[in-house]
Amino acid sequence: MDVLVVNCGSSSLKLDLLDAEDGTRRVVARAERLGTDEASLRIGDVETPLPGSDHAGALAVALPKILASTAAVSAVGHRVVHGGDTFVRPVRIDDDVVTAIEGLSALAPLHNPANLAGIRGARKLLPDAMHVAVFDTAFHGTLPNRARAYALPRDLAEKHGIRRYGFHGPSHQWVANRAADFLDEDLRDLRVITCHLGNGASVAAIENGRSVETSMGMTPLEGLVMGTRSGDVDPGVLLELVRREGLDADGLDALLNRASGLAGLSGRGNDLRDIEAGAAEGDERCRLALQVFTHRLRKYIGAYAAVMGGVDVIVFTAGIGENSALIRHRVAQRLDFLGARLDEEANRVAQVSREVPVAAISQPHSRTRVLVVATDEAHAIAQATARLAHDRDAVDTSLQIPIAVSARHIHLTTEAVEALFGPGHQLTPYKPLSQPGQFACEEKLDIVGPKRTLSGVRVLGPTRPKCQIEVSRTDEFALGIDAPVRNSGDVANSPGITLVGPEGTLNLTEGLICARRHIHMTPADAERFGVADRDVVEVAVDSDGRDLIFGDVLIRVKSTYALEMHVDTDEANAAEIRRGQTGVLASTGRFARLRRRRTDYDPT
Ligand code: ADP
Repeated sequence: MDVLVVNCGSSSLKLDLLDAEDGTRRVVARAERLGTDEASLRIGDVETPLPGSDHAGALAVALPKILASTAAVSAVGHRVVHGGDTFVRPVRIDDDVVTAIEGLSALAPLHNPANLAGIRGARKLLPDAMHVAVFDTAFHGTLPNRARAYALPRDLAEKHGIRRYGFHGPSHQWVANRAADFLDEDLRDLRVITCHLGNGASVAAIENGRSVETSMGMTPLEGLVMGTRSGDVDPGVLLELVRREGLDADGLDALLNRASGLAGLSGRGNDLRDIEAGAAEGDERCRLALQVFTHRLRKYIGAYAAVMGGVDVIVFTAGIGENSALIRHRVAQRLDFLGARLDEEANRVAQVSREVPVAAISQPHSRTRVLVVATDEAHAIAQATARLAHDRDAVDTSLQIPIAVSARHIHLTTEAVEALFGPGHQLTPYKPLSQPGQFACEEKLDIVGPKRTLSGVRVLGPTRPKCQIEVSRTDEFALGIDAPVRNSGDVANSPGITLVGPEGTLNLTEGLICARRHIHMTPADAERFGVADRDVVEVAVDSDGRDLIFGDVLIRVKSTYALEMHVDTDEANAAEIRRGQTGVLASTGRFARLRRRRTDYDPT
């Protein structure tokens, strides 16, 4: 399916008509310096001056030319920078969606109005096509609260939607998927740090396919040093500039967004090629610009490895990431402590393209792989648009799923049972659980954290190959340990914990997790629902007449599973789902329905 992708920057317009499946470009059009006398439009090799033209004007000239060379365009994908809390996935655009995006303009005053100009112009010129908005922020909808919140007074933050959203989502997701394809791994098994280094630059920590940290915040100004944006600065500096330079909001905006970053540091503009040339000639300002840029990124990579308890893959992408061997070299040096060893020669010659999108630049035995990956945001947007147009994410929303609340519990290995309850001890079934073969045991243990102890926590049987302790967010806070949200069974690099039983104490080096919301089902159920194992779905829970949506729910398929959605006690409380009875896994008498597949882990 051919999709027209519209990407409006503040003074630019990019149009790509492409095959959503394989990314082949039919027509590419670029308009630049819009709103000035030098505005121009280039389609293929033909450049047309468009003095004084704005986005709508450029679209009005470009679209008929594009349409002349193709069959009718039935789907248009629009890049929209800020989706706020409202949009966590691509949506079909109607008047209400336009109004909602308008309402988010306060959060992205530079970007959303330009995006809207493109939407309005294209809808007018292509009224019969399906228009879809794809949001930069959506991929980061999985950021945990600890990564979202600024340490500002809560009332003020809530009043203005002040929190961290993150950007460049389609690019981070795209290159992470390409990296996983290249390594023949499942993205859901990897910890990836993606460095998108273009004029705008951001880095993301992607753990098991979900964005858990990213360097841009409420706006695309936070984080890395960029072409003309400062990235992180001490907020106190801004106060001083207001006092000493008399700068107002517009003055600070211009300073931080347009006069800082590589351009401000180097005094040679924002093009890294010029700065690299200046540094080679001995220009101290250019050298410092390169050092600050790479130092900041190294710092983030180290921080994000700490956030995920390690890193399996580091990806460089976008204009600088794909083309500057010097920047990659400076960033990746001395990352041996993370297991990342750069192959200097491979780095020097690395070249990626749409046809060959990935180049490995780490040494063959490097534990952490370092890759250069060609990003393709237009292809990512076209795919998302085509999926919506074909309703590929549709699932059966009519079938009901029983909900059960899972209280904190412990899975043990045979060795752990013996260490805690004495040699030769066998777990004693207390009552069966709804999942066939699983049972709650008579045995209970104390979980000892650095802060507090949770007493009398039920052990579940049968024994497993690895110990696993599943607690809620409230529990982890009581224990005083940060536990990652994980799929059951996935305890690698999780924090350790101490278990105390009647006959012994066990100091585990890993095993404490917050279990991710999930739904158990059989292959036959999966077929009925139209989902597959490890799909991620949205689920609607009817909570006393309120339709509450749980995003990010994992599907687990096995022939021995019974159909059931598991939420933990915190989530049940949030949804006001009361447990019908006490126990380790209590049925609630409530039901959920699938809404749609939420994340696409298999874009091909
Ligand atoms: P945008 O964010 O505008 O899409 P790009 O991803 O196109 O930006 O990246 C633009 C940046 O990439 C510019 O700073 C440019 O200097 C840099 N760049 C492009 N090619 C090279 C190269 N060969 N060496 C160093 N930097 C490069």
